[in-house]
This record gives sequence, C-alpha cells and structure tokens, in this order.
Amino acid sequence: MSKTVPGVVVVGSLHYDIMVAAPHRPAAGETVQGNRWYPKFGGKGGNQAVAAARAGVPVRMLGAVGDDAFGAFLRENLRQGGVDDAHVATLPGHASGMSVAISDATGDYGAVIVSGTNLEIDPARLEDDDLWAGVAMLVLQNEVTEQMNLAATQAARARGVQVCLNAAPYRPLSPDLAAAIDVLVVNALEAESLSGVAVGGIRGAADAAHKLSQTFPMAVVTAGGDGVAVAEHDGESFTLPAEKVTLVSTHGAGDVFTGALAAALVSGVSLAEAARTANWTAARHVAGLS
Ligand code: ADP
Repeated sequence: MSKTVPGVVVVGSLHYDIMVAAPHRPAAGETVQGNRWYPKFGGKGGNQAVAAARAGVPVRMLGAVGDDAFGAFLRENLRQGGVDDAHVATLPGHASGMSVAISDATGDYGAVIVSGTNLEIDPARLEDDDLWAGVAMLVLQNEVTEQMNLAATQAARARGVQVCLNAAPYRPLSPDLAAAIDVLVVNALEAESLSGVAVGGIRGAADAAHKLSQTFPMAVVTAGGDGVAVAEHDGESFTLPAEKVTLVSTHGAGDVFTGALAAALVSGVSLAEAARTANWTAARHVAGLS
C-alpha cells in the first residue's frame, strides 16, 4: 500500500455467485429448464473492495475462503480487481461462501446464500499491524458475524481508523457496534428498519437520514432510482437525484456505492463530493457500464 495515499480495509464476505436465468422460478418439487447460467464474483465485502480499488485507492481485504475451486476463483478476482488479498485466509476442509440467484422472465429473482467460510474469519487476524498500515477507513457489511464486525471496529478505532458500515442485509444493530460507526450507508428497506421512518421516495429517505444522523455522525440513505439522501450529525443535509441511466441490473448497486463512497472519503474530498461520485459510479454499475 502506498505511503502517501490513504487506503481502505474491507472486512467482509466473498461469495461465488451462480446466476441462473429461467422462464420462471421453481415451485416446490418442480424442475425448471433454465436458459443460461454464469458464475460471478460476489459477496458484499468483495464487491465493496473491488469498487474502492477501481476508484483508485489502495485496498486490503480481510476475509476467508475455502480450499476449493470457488475460493481460488474469488482470490483471483480480488487480485484482478486490484485488491490486496494477503489477509484473505484459505481454510482447509471448509467450503467457500456461495449463492445461487434465479431470475425469471420479468427480472425478479430469488436467491439462496450459504455463508460458509465468511462466518469463520479469525478475529485474531485483526491484530496484524500490516493490515492497517496506511489505512484511513474500515468498510464493513452484515455478511460476517456481528462479533467479527465489532472486533473489526475495535481494532480500527484503536488505530484511529474511521469506520463505514453498509448495514446490509438488515439485522438489528447492537448499541456497541452502532457507537463505533462513523459513516452508515443503508438502502430504503434497511433505513426503514433502523430508523422506523417509512422511506417512500426521496423525501422519506431524507427524513430517515436525518433521524439516523442523530445516532451516526454521517448517515447515507440510498433510494435506488429515487436518489440519495445524506445527513451529518453536526453538519449538512442534502439529497441527490439518481443519475439518468438505462437500467440493466441493480444487483450489487449498494456495494458499489459503498466502496466508491469510502474511496472518495479517504481521498479527502467533502462528503457532498464523495456522495456525488458514489452516486455516479453506482449509476454506471446499474447501467452495465462499469
Ligand atoms: P441496494 O443495491 O443496496 O438495494 P439501491 O437500490 O438504493 O441500493 O442502489 C444504490 C445506488 O445505486 C443508488 O443510490 C444509486 O446511486 C444507484 N442506483 C440504483 N438504482 C438506480 C437507478 N435506477 N438509476 C440510477 N442509479 C441507480
């Protein structure tokens, strides 16, 4: 990692995603003839890490894969995405994390995730100072254990590293973890669950961001095609419209938004500029342009 450019550490999930397209999703006991399938690098943590690296900042990932072909695929994709994988463990005899997503003719999909090694990351690895050298921000999501996220925030805080949590998928946030977060990123559903404020459109997103900013120094609520709402505890509040693009797939949009936001913030731009950059980057992603 460069000594001059501040970097990002992502502690989180890596999934081998199997994407299946079928005329419809199978009912109980039914076998459906699918149209096509392809493997995809995934896991919210891996997606965030690659998005941050693409934004041009040094990124290290802390995670775990199994000693299977899927783990080798995930590691190779991290490297190709410009992410330092030296802190990703290969766990002998364990299965890598994976998911199967079946999309139907209307584009709706259902998915199964098996977390595998993502739940086996060794917290002791957080004490390796090489992980933190030159790092300004830790990025987390909810695809590893709450205990791991808490240990990661404690390791980061002890080193003066800021913490960004993309609280996805939703799960209740413990007071200890909440108290250690500098930047919270949530989509509309997660914002509703955490704030109790109904998010219908950008006004609701702004209300939810305002409510969340009473607990978190910076709260960012992404509302898909409706835009983004940002509120700071002691600072500005604003909304951004979504960029106008032709939608291809929203899969991973929040991950890309979070990675790009974290990269922009460590590069020293204002929160407003970072949110604009993340909004633009995520829009390119959903348009299939990245
Ligand atoms: P998640 O993927 O976590 O559910 P969102 O759907 O809110 O999150 O999308 C995250 C970000 O991706 C949005 O804030 C926006 O920047 C971008 N995005 C998502 N959908 C669209 C869209 N239809 N048009 C333009 N940008 C979009």
